[in-house]
Amino acid sequence: MMDHFLYKNGLLHAENVSITEICEAIDTPFYCYSVATIERHFRVLEAALKGLKATICYAVKANSNIAVLKLLGDMGAGADVVSSGELIRALKAGIPSNKIVFSGVGKTKGEITHALKENILQINVESEVELHCVNTIAKDLNKVAQVALRINPDVDARTHEKISTGRSENKFGIEWNSIDKIINDTDRLQNIEISGLAVHIGSQLTDLSPFRDTFKKLKEFVFHLESKGAKFKRLDLGGGLGIPYNNDETPTPQEYGKVIKEILGDMKCDLIVEPGRLIVGNAGILVTKVIYYKKGDTRNFIILDAAMNDLMRPSLYDAEHEIINVIETNQNVEKNAVDIVGPVCETGDTFARQVKLPKCETGDLFAIRSAGAYGAAMSSTYNSRALIPEIMVNKSRFSTIRERIEPETYLNYEKIPDW
Ligand SMILES: *Cc1c(COP(=O)(O)O)cnc(C)c1O
Repeated sequence: MMDHFLYKNGLLHAENVSITEICEAIDTPFYCYSVATIERHFRVLEAALKGLKATICYAVKANSNIAVLKLLGDMGAGADVVSSGELIRALKAGIPSNKIVFSGVGKTKGEITHALKENILQINVESEVELHCVNTIAKDLNKVAQVALRINPDVDARTHEKISTGRSENKFGIEWNSIDKIINDTDRLQNIEISGLAVHIGSQLTDLSPFRDTFKKLKEFVFHLESKGAKFKRLDLGGGLGIPYNNDETPTPQEYGKVIKEILGDMKCDLIVEPGRLIVGNAGILVTKVIYYKKGDTRNFIILDAAMNDLMRPSLYDAEHEIINVIETNQNVEKNAVDIVGPVCETGDTFARQVKLPKCETGDLFAIRSAGAYGAAMSSTYNSRALIPEIMVNKSRFSTIRERIEPETYLNYEKIPDW
């Protein structure tokens, strides 16, 4: 998909703002997001779903910055949240509660209570024991909970094992063959209304066939259950459509929308999709500076000031992000293989192995591309590093949407016992 991080006059820009200009005001490393790119991705998906009664509930966990949520909420997005914290964020960003879905295998009593009190659209329940818990809490609150049952369709999403969620050995969802019984038993749960079914088979899917298989199964299942008297208001199709990280081929939103239309276009119920990465992934870069260029006997290393705590995806999922110079280099210049690493004391703190780059030195700026999803949201303070800033660019302006959180600040929460 297209983004708005391009070279102009030899300098990498986010929309109309030069990254070097931001670097004069903000110390690296930092995340930089493009409003136009987020908007574009949202609109492209919206257009791909045109004609369907579909709501886009953005998966907050991909990038939960409140400025990102506000932007998407203003465009009409709902939210898919997985914790009380995300629910607080989504509401604070102005996303209406009747467009919020709560997912996750382990919602606590506190979280279920929170969701019910806020009258959100639906809770996606992932087990029978959770369904009973929701019923009990709803009863105490004198409410009827709107619940979708998340089904585990036992489909292989063919993605990285750590982000595959739709096989029966994964912890997610209710097994296909026990839904019948659960729906029958729900008649006895007076504070539950089963409003729909939900699926989500994994993330970064680069092939449409697992979606196709899942949607077909879902449809057959709805027909089966409706023939026995069930009625559903909504089908939640989850998220998971992949994005190109390193020039790899991924299905377009149009192709994804076409699959949904082909299989589910004639269903009477409303649809929900929960994209995360697709909306924000390519809308962010991580801007970082070279600390040292280290020559070794067998390998040379570029040591950046960004590390695995800032962007975990490479060390967690073996993810490959394209890394480019902020100041454009001459295409004809000699290139050598280097490993690009961070300063954290772990060998896994590696962003790229043996990539060919022109010679570089201390102070050179790089951008790690496609870092808008599961980047800042997953960052930590490991090695007692700062939580890095997030910057948002809108045409010719930029704004800090999260300040750097320094060790001095979070150390205030630690205490030496006085015994
Ligand atoms: C993570 C998640 C999503 C979003 O996944 P993406 O791959 O970012 O689109 C959607 N729904 C559920 C239930 C999730 O857990």
